[in-house]
Amino acid sequence: MNLILLGAPGAGKGTQATKIADRYGLVHISTGDIFRANIKNGTKIGLLAKSYIDKGELVPDEVTCDIVRDRLTWDDVKNSNGYLLDGFPRNLFQAGELDKFAKIDGVVNINIDFSLLMDRLCGRRVCKECGESYHVSTLNGATTCSRCGGELYQRKDDNPETVKSRLDVYTAQTQPLIDYYTKKGIILNFTGTEAPAEVLFEEVKTVLDKLAK
Ligand code: AMP
Repeated sequence: MNLILLGAPGAGKGTQATKIADRYGLVHISTGDIFRANIKNGTKIGLLAKSYIDKGELVPDEVTCDIVRDRLTWDDVKNSNGYLLDGFPRNLFQAGELDKFAKIDGVVNINIDFSLLMDRLCGRRVCKECGESYHVSTLNGATTCSRCGGELYQRKDDNPETVKSRLDVYTAQTQPLIDYYTKKGIILNFTGTEAPAEVLFEEVKTVLDKLAK
């Protein structure tokens, strides 16, 4: 089963992605994580990506599509039940390219009220080791991950100015994908709320269990 996870920044894609990938044996492929790893390792792609990510803009399509096309040929993908694309595609061009090299079974779309997102993203702290997300308001001053003990950090693009631009990019470029996949008949719509991620996952599970059969 090959899936796409759609939703605005801060909608809770990362958390749902881990849960979905675990349950269905899918390889979780996050283009944002791939870019951040490249930035950390100081690669050429990382250097290029950083200039866009820091402004909240999209990394050029050709670079991004090449990375995903290549990633889908790795052995872990071949030896799995499929993959979950998180953060890709981000616009109609990328979706068209993806159609040329992938067969997607379902698109999990998390709709969320934008008014929740600024606070969620600016208060977000992420584990350097396992990627788990937290919000400062629930950390009580803790600086390490309660799951794996890794150090928590604030993503550089989780600041008000960059978040605004990321949300604008989402509205202009990524939101049209909802229509695109609705027309293809593979969209699966969910509503993100302030409830714990487990609540949403219960709904996602009910729908994906049927799709996976
Ligand atoms: P994310 O972790 O998904 O929020 O992505 C962080 C940043 O990485 C985005 O704001 C973009 O700058 C870049 N990025 C991630 N995925 C893509 C993509 N599919 N196309 C272009 N840029 C991307």
